[in-house]
Amino acid sequence: MKAYDIKKYLKSSRIMGRKSTFSNAFASALAPFDEYSESTVNSSITDLGQNPEDELTCVYCDAPAATWDHVFNRVIAGEFSGYGHRIRNLVPSCRTCNERKGKKNWRDFIIHEGRPNLENRIARMEKFLSADEARPTTMDDIRNAAQPELDRFLEIRSEVFRLLEEADAVAKSIRQKL
Ligand SMILES: [Zn+2]
Repeated sequence: MKAYDIKKYLKSSRIMGRKSTFSNAFASALAPFDEYSESTVNSSITDLGQNPEDELTCVYCDAPAATWDHVFNRVIAGEFSGYGHRIRNLVPSCRTCNERKGKKNWRDFIIHEGRPNLENRIARMEKFLSADEARPTTMDDIRNAAQPELDRFLEIRSEVFRLLEEADAVAKSIRQKL
């Protein structure tokens, strides 16, 4: 490290630098979730080719599962994706696969990892995702169910961003007076 490396610390920080955190929070807030239902959980685990009574294994690599992976992320490019904390969007996963998969598409991830039984693994996921309960909630679904509330929600989001921009401008003029 050189003395001049300190330069990268010598700058102001902007609230809008966190814009994606706020966007994600708004998008996630729209994501639906399922109430726990033993029969729905059991049928989804069965579709994944596992016995709901047994210790579950990772759908991506067969190691003991330690987490539930969201097959589809709730937020894509700052917008609600249509998927939530739903039983048919959560699959047993080991920590390593959950982290490695990240935002990747499940099928690309499985193919890329090249584990044994590729075709069976994909077929089980397709079966799991073919159920009615796996269908995403589209923005049209939300509009049809709650147009006025959605309009207000989007208005609030814009207003929050406008206020954050303003706060950055005010903070800048405060710094200039110091
Ligand atoms: Zn795994």
